[in-house]
Amino acid sequence: MSRTAVVTGAARGIGAAVAARLATDGYAVALVDLDAGAAQAAAEQIVAAGGRARGFGADVADEQAVARVVEEITAELGAPTVLVNNAGIIRDNLLFRMSVEDWDAVMGVHLRGAFLMSRACQGAMREAGWGRIVNLSSTSALGNRGQANYSAAKAGLQGLTKTLAIELGRFGVTVNAIAPGFIATDMVRATAERMGVGFEEFCAGAAEQIPVGRVGQPEDVAAVASFLAGEGSGYVSGQVIYVAGGPKA
Ligand code: NAP
Repeated sequence: MSRTAVVTGAARGIGAAVAARLATDGYAVALVDLDAGAAQAAAEQIVAAGGRARGFGADVADEQAVARVVEEITAELGAPTVLVNNAGIIRDNLLFRMSVEDWDAVMGVHLRGAFLMSRACQGAMREAGWGRIVNLSSTSALGNRGQANYSAAKAGLQGLTKTLAIELGRFGVTVNAIAPGFIATDMVRATAERMGVGFEEFCAGAAEQIPVGRVGQPEDVAAVASFLAGEGSGYVSGQVIYVAGGPKA
């Protein structure tokens, strides 16, 4: 069976950590990101550490780009049987200030992107009679001020996860979601900057509200992705696992 995993938005942050972890688990990993150069740079770090990886450029919200990149990955690394839909953006604003462009951009990357990538990869998984899809949701799916677009998309991903789990289960394909809380990445750094708070101070303030007393790291999410992408999780499907240092962030 092909041991090729695809991780979207893998040039940095959670995606880069998931890609590195799946390479350690023995997968040949395709790192997909908007910027092919940044994706390849992250792939080279994995290769330097002894893994098998390659970077690919594609906008996951673009139907043609998705079809092309999945063909390239199949030709260069083998047909993908693991897909981690991680690519994401934020365009936060209160509802009355939120533009249609910011609504559509967030829906495009998170929801349309996960739909297009899953549709493009499911054929290879069905053929193999085995597959794993992991979608990145968020605690924001439970509601978060200033994130009407993002929270709707992340809640939508939970619905997509459960429906694909029902449709694809008979082919040996499981579909699950990880819903992280506060994870210290550039995405959170951008939020801190917009609020005019230093990153360290922002993290320290958040840690006080988190039951385990610290903020999350990309590796915390990668460990759960590794479990969901592995052989041992075959009877877990349609689930949302909160990785938030407590019942919620
Ligand atoms: P990040 O550091 O901002 O990384 C996101 C990556 O996705 C970037 O490399 C970005 O590329 C890429 N990307 C954006 N749009 C794309 C597109 N259309 N096609 C392909 N790649 C695209 O974010 P992160 O914090 O690691 O978050 C990763 C995922 O976890 C996201 O889905 C996010 O919503 C979710 N999440 C994060 C947190 C958190 O606290 N950090 C919490 C809950 C959920 P560019 O650099 O070129 O923009």
